[in-house]
This record gives sequence, structure tokens and C-alpha cells, in this order.
Amino acid sequence: MALLSAKTRFEQNGLTVPFITAWEFEKMLIPKLGIRVAPGGGAHLIFADETATDRDEHGVLWARQGLARGQGKALFPDVHAYRQKRAMFDLLCQVCGGKTIEEDFDRQLYVMNSAKGLPIQEGELTTAPPVCRGCAPEAAVSCPRLKDRYVAAYAEWNHSWGVSGILINPRTLAPLSKDHTEVSFTDPRIKWVIANRSVNRLSGIRHADLQTFALAG
Ligand SMILES: [Zn+2]
Repeated sequence: MALLSAKTRFEQNGLTVPFITAWEFEKMLIPKLGIRVAPGGGAHLIFADETATDRDEHGVLWARQGLARGQGKALFPDVHAYRQKRAMFDLLCQVCGGKTIEEDFDRQLYVMNSAKGLPIQEGELTTAPPVCRGCAPEAAVSCPRLKDRYVAAYAEWNHSWGVSGILINPRTLAPLSKDHTEVSFTDPRIKWVIANRSVNRLSGIRHADLQTFALAG
């Protein structure tokens, strides 16, 4: 199969399928779990058949997920763990996969769900990658999670804070909750999480106009 560029564009039912959206054959898999006890006595979660690619640069375990972008149906609103992580780290537009830093070196635009009814806050934790300005209207209308209400802001700093994922009970190796938990890299529970999203902390927030997505004020 030819390698797809991040910027390869896909559509489904007339809607752009965002770069970070998961596709039908990109199944997420949690392998058999185990515990490793370090010589000093500290214990942490492992995959029984763990390989070097199962952990990120912080040593955090990530769920495995196939790569088959563009094949089968797009699974709105599911997000692909690795593409989300890459977009958060490289500041790629969550819609088109382009480098937002080439558009504006000083700040990135974020368009998010406003379920909390609040604008984007200073120090806000988010699993949403940035968007380029050209894709912002599309992000606001085409992502089902954003369709009803959205907020938009520019952030000057985008700090890698932690992950969102499934917390595992160290005694039973069963999930502690069905819901995803956000865990910082400095939290001791990070040793017992299976990540499937990066979480970034945004600062240097300046609000964006919700019609034009230009910097407000
Ligand atoms: Zn874009």
C-alpha cells in the first residue's frame, strides 16, 4: 500500500473526514496485561508481549491501533490514537493534517466543544489538536461533537501535560472505570494507565472571533 501523506483528503457523505478520525479497519486492541516489579520494588503495568513501540517518549503504555486510513467507513466521532498524538505533538491541523505552525509560528487556533458552557481558559487541558484557519469553519460544522456549540481561541503555548486513557487496577488488572481518565506525566497513576490520547495544556490564550476565526480584540 502506498504511504498516505498527512494531507491526503478524504470525504464521506459530503463531509471532510478529519485527519484524526478513526476508520473502520483501524481496530483498537489492548493486549494481555501483566505487572513488572523493578529491582527497587516499584511496580508498573506491562503488555505481556510488549515491544519498544508500545511506549511513548515518557515511558507511558499506549493502546495498539491498526493503521488503515481511508479504508472502509470513517467512524465519526472516534479518534485514532496515533494520529491524535502526532497532531498534538507536531501541531498538525486536526482536519487537514497540515502544519499549523507554517501558518502562524506564534500561536495556534483551537476550536472546541463548549459543553461546559465556558470559553477556552488559561491553562485549559485538552485532547483537541489545533486547526488551521482555513479548516476552522469545517471543524466547527463537520465534527459531530462540535456541531451544536463551539468555542475558539488562539494559544501561544502548547505544553505536553499527560495522557487520557484507561486506568487499570494494580491488583486485579481490570479497568477501574469505563470512562477515560486524564493523568499527568507526574501522577503516580501514570504507571497504571493505557493511553489512547495525548493531553496538552494551553496557555497564552487569546479569544478568536466565532464567525471569522480571526484573533479577537
Ligand atoms: Zn487544516
